[in-house]
Order: sequence, then structure tokens, then C-alpha cells
Amino acid sequence: MRDTLTAPPARTQVPPRHLTGPNDLSLPLIEQLLDDAAVFERGDAEAAPLRGRLLATLFYEPSTRTRFSFEAAMHRLGGQVLSAENAAQASSAAKGESLEDAIRIVSGYADAIVLRHPEVGAVERAARAAEVPVISGGDGAGHHPTQALLDLYTIKKELGRLHHLRIGLAGDLRHGRTARSLALLLSRFPGNELIMISPPELRMGTDVLDQLNEARVDETDDLHGAITGLDVLYQTRIQAERFASLDEYERYRGVYVMTVDVMHRLPEHAILMHPLPRAGEIDPLVDADPRAAYFRQARNGLWIRMAVLDWAMGR
Ligand code: ASP
Repeated sequence: MRDTLTAPPARTQVPPRHLTGPNDLSLPLIEQLLDDAAVFERGDAEAAPLRGRLLATLFYEPSTRTRFSFEAAMHRLGGQVLSAENAAQASSAAKGESLEDAIRIVSGYADAIVLRHPEVGAVERAARAAEVPVISGGDGAGHHPTQALLDLYTIKKELGRLHHLRIGLAGDLRHGRTARSLALLLSRFPGNELIMISPPELRMGTDVLDQLNEARVDETDDLHGAITGLDVLYQTRIQAERFASLDEYERYRGVYVMTVDVMHRLPEHAILMHPLPRAGEIDPLVDADPRAAYFRQARNGLWIRMAVLDWAMGR
């Protein structure tokens, strides 16, 4: 019997390439991933480099862009996907299985795992339990490194550089993982100035502020005042699901809304970004403005996630 069984492919002994947060991204790696994404976007890459490989996407929180773009990226690279889009209910988590056990099991079936989880630090825990690369799709109010990469890609593509820029990050900076990760990555490039625009209670956490040594940082709650000197305005959603009560969330909902009128204050050369989904922060009438870059930004997620999967599982 024994020799009729086919052994599973041997696992390599090199440590897996995890991407759990911005600290896994050195400047050379960021530059490599941005260059690779551009190659994928141009269609110049080798065909199907991940043929025969399997990606598992485990999402314990809702997602549209991140999950679909990772899955589309994997298919476009010639690989295949196993997906739990509602892992909290549809996996054995509902029976009380620990994240570590689930990851150990999925590690035995797939060649890499993309994980989104509501707890800060969950992706790092998963990486410690996994034998295959674990890539963050967002951990609660912690970080979202591939979103930050696609944001860098978008800024570079739209404005031609990633240095000596004035970038306003606006909204719920306390809970918004995309702004937290983007601030850290932008601070690695010279001469950038970050203007943190938020209500005082929703300020950027000191864990991030303390790591922004390379960048000049200003904080304000005045969007209209800050907007006139920006190269990029990065709007974010007030993160309803991170507040203790709906009443508390309601206090901040609608605090900064981009309208056609407010857009008049944004310089002509600047761009308006948003990780999406929007929950009223940008009036749909703004979409027709050529500076509204958020749908182009979402599309760029595909190229960046192709580059990340190819790096994690490929060569
Ligand atoms: N889609 C982004 C995230 O998963 C932004 C948001 O949800 O507000 O963090």
C-alpha cells in the first residue's frame, strides 16, 4: 500500500517569509515590491509563476478589496485559492478552536495564508504557529501592511515620488490600521511631512508617533486649514466597529466630509485617497474630480498583492 501513496511536496527549510506588519518591510524590500508590482501591472512578468501553489485566505472580519484582490492576484499568478470568508462562524473557531491550532492545520494544506483578524497582534501569533508564510490582511486596530504598500504604489504612480511630500492623514487615526501602517512606511522616505488630522480623542497612537523619527509630524483637528498645503489627503473612515458603543461612534461620524466645495481648497496637483469603504466621508459627487484617486488606488491593490504573493511563495 505504502508505495502507492504520493507524499505531499517537501517543505523547504528556509524560514517562511511572513508579512505581519510594517516592521517586516525594510526599505529595499518595499522598493522591490513596488518595482515588481509595476512589472505585473505592465504585464511583463513571467506567466503563471505560482502554478501548482495553493493560498488559503482566512478572514475573521469582513472584507471586499483585500480578500478579492488577494484571491484575484493568486489566480492571475497561476495558483489556486482555499477561502474562509467568514472564518469566525464558518471555521472551527465557532467550536472554540484556537487561532494557533487553526493556523497549524491550514499550514498543512496550503503554501501560504492571508489572515484578517479582529485582534491586534493576531497575525504575529499566527506566524509563530505557521510553517508557511502568513501575510496580514489587517489585525484589528493594529496594522494593514499590504494596504500601506498599495498606498505607496498609488502615491508614486500619481505624483512620481515618495519623498519630500506633505501628506495629510485624516479621520479616525486612533483605530484606523491603514493610516497607522502608511504613516510608518512614509516616514522611511526622506523629507516627508505628515499632518495628522483628527479629533483630539482619535489621535494617532504614540506607538506609531514614537517611530516616526525621520518624518516631520504635525497634529491638528482642522481639516479645512490643513488641506491647502497638501500633496496627498488620505481620508479614512471612523471605525464604527472599534467603539465601545454606537453613541460614542455617533459623536465622531461625519466629522470630516469631503465635498466638491471642500475640494476647492485642495491644491490642483494633489490627490485625494481613501482605503475604502467610505461611510459618508467623501460625497460621491467628488468622484468625478480627477484628483479623486481612491478607485485607482483600490485597483492598484491587485498589482501589489501579486508582488507580495510572488515574494512570499515564489522565487
Ligand atoms: N478596508 C480598510 C481596512 O480593512 C479600511 C477600513 O475598513 O476603514 O482597514
